[in-house]
Amino acid sequence: MRLPELPEGGWTKVVTITLVTTVFITLLALAGMWLGNVVSNDETTAADVAATLALAVGLTAPLLGSLIIKLEELRHANAQLQYLASYDFLTGALNRRAFMEGVEKRLAEGGTSETKARLALFVIDVDHFKVINDRYGHQVGDLALVRIADALRASLRETDLFGRLGGEEFGAFLDDIAPVDALKVAEKCRLAIAECPFTPEGEQHSVSVSIGIAFAMPDEDFTTLFHQADNRLYRAKEHGRNRIEAPLVSVAA
Ligand code: GH3
Ligand code: MG
Ligand code: MG
Repeated sequence: MRLPELPEGGWTKVVTITLVTTVFITLLALAGMWLGNVVSNDETTAADVAATLALAVGLTAPLLGSLIIKLEELRHANAQLQYLASYDFLTGALNRRAFMEGVEKRLAEGGTSETKARLALFVIDVDHFKVINDRYGHQVGDLALVRIADALRASLRETDLFGRLGGEEFGAFLDDIAPVDALKVAEKCRLAIAECPFTPEGEQHSVSVSIGIAFAMPDEDFTTLFHQADNRLYRAKEHGRNRIEAPLVSVAA
């Protein structure tokens, strides 16, 4: 028989719950048997005890054990489904829907004009990504996406939201940050990619990203904010790529 795969600590949980519940039910059965004998004025014999023990343990442990294993499997499967519903399987970044929901939630929470002015959205697109696929194949393209996502994530803070918006486009949402500091983070992201060596088939291939930034205003919704950042990304592409476009500032590579 193949044992089911449970998450870490799953088997300890199954064994502990089964043991504790089996002991409890066995004690209850013994007490019931003894009370029955007292009421009917019968003597409790060793055979009575042995039969009650065998019945209680023999029935409870396997039935309860298999039920708890099934519940643990279900809990594990649910956790996996929840992960798959929110994260991009290739890069481990939030998927587009989960990222948008996270940003909308934070926009709604950052209610005052003062706190909202400290929210920044980056739309980050890999430059000429198609060339990587065309030159080295889709698998190397996938590997590049994983590396790029890792480098971007490492340039952000733990609390920032990071998502894959689709294809070779990523989003980052930073809260509680002054615009000038958000620009520094964007530059860190840009440099992390531009300076990270990518050598498919032993050949040095330059990779870069362009970044469009928008800062939130009071009463701003995700769609407006996203359009602003996306328009700036488009401008960064037009102006030569490997650059950041932000309100009232243009940082060249
Ligand atoms: P630009 O600088 O204008 O953004 O050029 P680009 O080549 O990056 O943009 P374009 O939209 O022309 O091409 C994006 C490519 O990304 C095309 C598509 O096949 C590829 N792509 C999208 N998703 C994936 C993926 O998951 N894996 C791989 N390997 N490629 C992907
Ligand atoms: Mg691109
Ligand atoms: Mg793109």
